[in-house]
Amino acid sequence: MKGKHDVIVVGAGPAGASVARRVAESGFDVLVIERKREIGHPIQCGELVPAIEEFSKILPKAERAKRLFDLPQWVISNNSSRVMVCSSSKKIYEFKFNSNIIDRSRFDKLLVMNATKAGAELWTSCNVIGARNGGKEVLVKKEAKTLRIETDVLVAADGPSSKMTRDVGLGSNDPRNLGVTIEYLMGGVEVDPDIVEVYFGNEYAPGGYAWIIPKGEGIANVGLGIRTPFSEKGVSVKEYLKRFIDKHPIASRNLRKGAILSTIGGLVPLGGPLQRTYSDNVIVVGDAAGQVMPTNGGGIPIAVICGDIGGEAIVSKLKGGSSLVLYEKVWRKEVGKELDRGLKIRKIMDIAMQSDRITEEVYGIFGGRVIESALHGRLPMPLSVAYKTVVRLSRSLKAPS
Ligand SMILES: Cc1cc2nc3c(=O)[nH]c(=O)nc-3n(C[C@H](O)[C@H](O)[C@H](O)COP(=O)(O)OP(=O)(O)OC[C@H]3O[C@@H](n4cnc5c(N)ncnc54)[C@H](O)[C@@H]3O)c2cc1C
Repeated sequence: MKGKHDVIVVGAGPAGASVARRVAESGFDVLVIERKREIGHPIQCGELVPAIEEFSKILPKAERAKRLFDLPQWVISNNSSRVMVCSSSKKIYEFKFNSNIIDRSRFDKLLVMNATKAGAELWTSCNVIGARNGGKEVLVKKEAKTLRIETDVLVAADGPSSKMTRDVGLGSNDPRNLGVTIEYLMGGVEVDPDIVEVYFGNEYAPGGYAWIIPKGEGIANVGLGIRTPFSEKGVSVKEYLKRFIDKHPIASRNLRKGAILSTIGGLVPLGGPLQRTYSDNVIVVGDAAGQVMPTNGGGIPIAVICGDIGGEAIVSKLKGGSSLVLYEKVWRKEVGKELDRGLKIRKIMDIAMQSDRITEEVYGIFGGRVIESALHGRLPMPLSVAYKTVVRLSRSLKAPS
């Protein structure tokens, strides 16, 4: 067992695995440390990723996405071509969007396998309990022993509640902007395998939305995300999901008879990226860095893209080239604009979501296209106009008559 590595990656999710693969491909020595016993299990995911042809619309500057998301069939459970959105007043909007519904457990295994095939070393069932010396060494619990291992570069890819980012002084995701989620894998449900369903409304998913993501053969991921500042006091996320499945006038018709096969949940950082995602010898990637689309909570594509960029920057540093600032420059160039715009849209949606009535007025003014655009991280009109309209509506609807 070596006491020092070129690169240590904490977390073998999509972000960490993508960094590790890229660095190992260039011949450097990478150790990936994961606390789970099995890669990709348990999953915490709706398992939806955009199909390749959608990337040019949603992340147009990230050319590399086409290469990174050219997925083999064995990790895909289903394909869908449409999204149905149900507003708080139960109006239905539908639009075309091609998605791959992946088997997330297999997907994570594929990314880690690609890293180990390229030469990365993998430790599972090992918990990194701390980073010291600005990330030049980590303490790892391995088989009841605590090991101290040195590294030239540390990669914090340890998810939304990252300890590594705090240990190295790069901050953390804002707890007020964490989405709280719950999801059931349901069997025996009557859903169209070609349609992903999204439901808004404060009664069912305050500050977020509920989803039904079809995996085919009458199986679906049924879940929702809420934000606590928007939710009713004393009502848990589980109670919201029960309400959605039992009582939503449209969704419950197809779900009520289904069986709950498993339950998962987790946090989603929705407050935009950390201010700084690198130091002299550390990069922060994926959920740990807040690299998640604030409008819809999708984080897999950006984790993989930023992981690839992070790997490139590390290789350049280890070859004696640039500093790790390159990582931050490139990811901001390729996906930063979309993340920033997504955050602005989410803030507009927050004002609108304070009341279902405002949301309905917004749909009334801008039409169903506004939801499609917001979910894609775009708006069909300048943000400033949208913002002013929502603020005006919010004031007029709250003003005493
Ligand atoms: C319920 C839910 C549904 C979602 N649905 C979707 C979706 O449909 N599509 C989408 O694009 N995104 C979705 N997301 C978001 C997506 O799952 C994340 O954005 C993505 O997993 C980020 O990848 P990551 O590698 O940054 O983090 P993670 O996947 O969280 O990986 C971090 C890894 O680090 C490990 N780890 C943490 N701490 C330590 C430690 N101290 N030592 C060792 N290992 C450690 C963890 O065990 C974990 O394996 C969803 C999230 C949730 C919670």
